Amino acid sequence: MVTDKRGRGLTDLRISLTDRCNLRCTYCMPKEIFGADYVFLKKNDWLRFSELDDLVEAFVQLGVKKVRLTGGEPLLRPGLDKYIHGLKHLHKIEDIALTTNGLRLAERVGDLKEAGLDRVTVSLDALDPVIAGKMNGRGIAPRAVLSGIAAARHEGFQVKVNMVVERGVNDGEILPMARYFKELGVTLRFIEFMDVGNHNGWKMERVVSGREILEQIKSEFQVEPVDLSSEHEVAKRYRYADGSGEFGLITSVTQPFCGGCTRARISADGKLYTCLFASQGLDLKSVLRAEGYDKSQLFDLLSKKWGARDDRYSEVRTDVGDSRSKVEMSYIGG
Ligand code: SAM
Ligand code: SF4
Ligand code: SF4
Repeated sequence: MVTDKRGRGLTDLRISLTDRCNLRCTYCMPKEIFGADYVFLKKNDWLRFSELDDLVEAFVQLGVKKVRLTGGEPLLRPGLDKYIHGLKHLHKIEDIALTTNGLRLAERVGDLKEAGLDRVTVSLDALDPVIAGKMNGRGIAPRAVLSGIAAARHEGFQVKVNMVVERGVNDGEILPMARYFKELGVTLRFIEFMDVGNHNGWKMERVVSGREILEQIKSEFQVEPVDLSSEHEVAKRYRYADGSGEFGLITSVTQPFCGGCTRARISADGKLYTCLFASQGLDLKSVLRAEGYDKSQLFDLLSKKWGARDDRYSEVRTDVGDSRSKVEMSYIGG
């Protein structure tokens, strides 16, 4: 297995299938920036599934066992089911996960299951329709997302829910969300608001720390930490003492976990990023589309790139963030 300069292997691959989305979450794609005149990637710029096949093959040789499909909104990418089928049956990927905003999940989930998808993570920031609608930038109430979650569970998926917590916006929803998903037996993961991209107005004051979130939960429930089952796990896991399930804290801002970061990310147009907070990616599409391209080149290229990796942004970030231009979350996929 290949390792980077800090001895971290490469086990997880995140593939962004499109930079487009049917929501405009304020912390990810604020509508003032991602409006009618925003220039998204053209479909022709997307890596074709056959090109992704070559990449996945090389990544598997390098140690990748898990693939997460994301975006933008991955359910907007035509041909998704067939692609998942290939990942499972051609590449024998052990663990295929999807991160989605859940809006179209109910109608799609049966086909996704049949194709071979293993896990689903659904993003939802509030149960209160006004707060949820404000945060998703489209005024959409959580009803469709909750139906998507129910449909996925009905298909037998173990669904997780991601909630980005922003001070003064949805911190009042921490307990209502915890109660609701505890009752349902669904793992809720609270994510600290991160300074990804350049447009979400991130400030340290707007981050609700994992510690504060935990205090709120403890004010109502008895909880205990769960041993990390894997050193690469990014969420700090807790279980409710009454046996009704778990929740997680993703504390990338206040308690970074760069030391266990074994993820590579590919944007929809085929750039490789070794950190969520990178400015530049390695252009794999031009390699894949070059005359005389031979897929044996990929292994060497990727292995060299990973071997030179030294990323640890979250360990060195400052309270004011970073003035460098960074890739957008909707482009790189979270
Ligand atoms: N559209 C899909 C969704 O929302 O689940 C997949 C892509 S989205 C970029 C992936 C994840 O990133 C979501 O769970 C979202 O909540 C999270 N995210 C986006 N912007 C974020 C930010 N500024 N801080 C923390 N998490 C963020
Ligand atoms: Fe779209 Fe997901 Fe970003 Fe929200 S978080 S704008 S759903 S890509
Ligand atoms: Fe990984 Fe970069 Fe996040 Fe650190 S800051 S955990 S290296 S993606």
